[in-house]
Amino acid sequence: MSSNGVRTVRPTSAGQQAALQSSRLPRPELVADNVWAIAAPIPEGSVTYTLSYVLLSSDSACFSILDPGWDSPGNLEALHRSLGLIGLTLEHLSTVVATHHHPDHLGIAATLRAMTGARVVLSREERAVLTHQLSPELRSPASYSRVLEAWGVPAARRGELTAAFARPPAFSDIEPDLLLDDGDVLDLGSHSLTALATPGHTGGHLCFADNERKLLYTGDHILPQIHSGFGLGSRPGDKPLPDYLTSLQSLQRFGGYEVLPGHEFRFRGLDARAAEICKHHLRRTQRIADLLPELGDASVWDYACRLHGAGWPRLHGFFLHAALRQTELHLELARSGLLEGLVARCPEPGTETNTGDFPSVSAGAPG
Ligand SMILES: [Zn+2]
Repeated sequence: MSSNGVRTVRPTSAGQQAALQSSRLPRPELVADNVWAIAAPIPEGSVTYTLSYVLLSSDSACFSILDPGWDSPGNLEALHRSLGLIGLTLEHLSTVVATHHHPDHLGIAATLRAMTGARVVLSREERAVLTHQLSPELRSPASYSRVLEAWGVPAARRGELTAAFARPPAFSDIEPDLLLDDGDVLDLGSHSLTALATPGHTGGHLCFADNERKLLYTGDHILPQIHSGFGLGSRPGDKPLPDYLTSLQSLQRFGGYEVLPGHEFRFRGLDARAAEICKHHLRRTQRIADLLPELGDASVWDYACRLHGAGWPRLHGFFLHAALRQTELHLELARSGLLEGLVARCPEPGTETNTGDFPSVSAGAPG
């Protein structure tokens, strides 16, 4: 509990927490009966690893892997090494499950399927999001140029955004063997995972609940320290920010579960973290709502400059794009009249007793 009485995230793995702090890969560790956490290295970017989860059958004859991580030789080598430490080899892989399509989660799934014949499982909605993200219409420079125009991006800054956009996406097309909908139960032998539609980060993101072990796999929907963002892959007509906030609220019934996220470290304190993330985003929307009387119909660019203040000139390329996109979504919400209702429904920190073994950390983080 923090000094002001607000419950905070309570790490449940000293090893993962220490690895994160020193930018190392955590060692494989047993999380629960037949559940291992292993680290999948990410070759680029500010996040060092994805947390992948190896789910063993009770007789150890086969296993599944959730969010296997980046499609790179380094990750494949790390996977061989981690499995070896657990006493497994890839030939016993039966199923690959991904929370969403991003390359640090679904990435290496197609390679693993080609090597082992394992089936690949994704949400039906995420499959549709992936199709949209790769569509020639969305990928065309002309359509991106229209987006930059609509955002009011000054001519001098368009070149770097266009160059970032022109890079091939880090994810590729894949036809899953099994598509899941909200509430579907994925039977993995000794593990029964309930799929929970949690749109926001991407339009078809899934969390998975293991009700027997009281574990919640959250992918990038909820991380203990980082704000993973929203609207990072959606379909026309989606409302990523309201969806994201609603998805945070939807997990309140799992407040007593240990959270197994896609990055950083596992933890308890889901309610507190969900409340914190919700409030963080609504504060940003409120700041934009406060600017409406002054800026009115000004462009997304103008709102973003004011929102980010002194840090704005330091944003470049993809990060500049992401900041503009999220400002656009905050602005949409501020103008929609839905803000008050969402503030009222923001989850409150829970009151479950502290069962974590490690000291609390403040979960404030850049976003
Ligand atoms: Zn991720």
